[in-house]
Amino acid sequence: MRKEIGFWFKQKVDAFCQKLERNILADKSLKCKVVFGPVRSRRLGNVLGINNVKLKVCSYNCIYCPSGKTTCCSICTNYCLSPYELHLSVKNKLKELNESKKNIEYIVFAGSGEPTLDSSLSKEIMLLREFGYKIAVFTNSSLLWNPNIRENLMYADYVSVKIDTAIESTWHKINRPHQRLDYKIILEGIKNFSNKYRGTFVTETTLIKNINDSQAEIEELSKFLSTIKRKTSYFMTPIYPPSESYAGSPDNETLNHISEMIKELVADSVLLCCPENEEFFVTDDFRNELLGLLSLHPVKVEAVELTAKYQKKLQILEELIENRLINEIVFEGEKYFSVNSAE
Ligand code: SF4
Repeated sequence: MRKEIGFWFKQKVDAFCQKLERNILADKSLKCKVVFGPVRSRRLGNVLGINNVKLKVCSYNCIYCPSGKTTCCSICTNYCLSPYELHLSVKNKLKELNESKKNIEYIVFAGSGEPTLDSSLSKEIMLLREFGYKIAVFTNSSLLWNPNIRENLMYADYVSVKIDTAIESTWHKINRPHQRLDYKIILEGIKNFSNKYRGTFVTETTLIKNINDSQAEIEELSKFLSTIKRKTSYFMTPIYPPSESYAGSPDNETLNHISEMIKELVADSVLLCCPENEEFFVTDDFRNELLGLLSLHPVKVEAVELTAKYQKKLQILEELIENRLINEIVFEGEKYFSVNSAE
C-alpha cells in the first residue's frame, strides 16, 4: 500500500513539474532575449550567450555600445529569469542545439547590460555547470570594487574585463559611468581580483578615434596592465554600429601606429581589429531568436538573409521589415539589420 501511495505521489509531482516547465518555456520572446545564439565569438569560438539583466540596464553608457543607449544607468541588482528558470531555458536550448547538430565551446554571460548586476550570478554558474561546458563572463568591470561581485566571478572559468583607459577623464568620455562609481577604486578592484582568480583572466580595450587612441593613452594603459595578472589583453575597434555616431574606429594610419606601440608596450597583447565574417544561427524560432539577437547588437543583412533563405523563413523576415520591427542601417559601408527602437 505504502509503495502504491509513493508511486501515486511521484506521478503527481512529475506531472506538476512538467506543467511548470511548459509554462516557464512558453514565453519565447523573453527566453530568446535571455538565452541567445549560438553566436561566433572571436576569442572563444561558438558560444551560447546569456543576457540575464533587463534590456539596456547597465552601470555604463558606453559611446560605442552596440545595443544602443543605456535606458537605465544603474548599479543596483536586477535580473530577468530566476536561476531555476534560466537553468531550464538553457537546458531546452542545448537540447535544440543538439538536435540541429550545432556545437558550442562556452556558455557566456554577456549582452546588452552588465552581467554582474545579476546577484545570483554565482548560483547560475554553478547550476549551468551540470551541462559540462566552460562558463565565461564578459564584464565591464565597474563593480569589481565590490567583494561580493568579485566572489561571484570566482566561479567562472574565464573572465574578461573591460578596461578602455587608465585615465579617469577619458573613462568619463568613453564609458559614461553611473555617477556613484569611482575609477580608482574600480582599478584597485580589478588588480585585487586578478591576484586571487584562478581561471583565465583577460582584458579588453575598445579603441575609439580621438578618444583613447593617443600615445599618452596607450602608455598609461600599458602601465596599468603591467600591474595585473592576466593571460591576454585584447584590443579591438567597434565592429557594430555604435550608440553615438562619433564613436568610430581610429583611422588606418593611427591604428598602425598604435598597433606597433601596443605590441611593444603590452606583453601578451592581441589585436582584434579586423571584422570577421558574421554567422547567424537559429535553432527553433526564427522570429524571436532574430529579435533577441538584434536587441543585443545589429547583425549584417547578408548573414540574416542567408539564414532566412536556408531555413525557408524569408516570409517571416519580410513581415518583420514590413511591420517595422526591424530596419536596415549602414555602418562603415556595410548594411545591418537592427531592432527599430522608434516603434
Ligand atoms: S558596451 Fe557593455 S558596458 Fe558599455 S553600455 Fe554597452 S552593455 Fe554596458
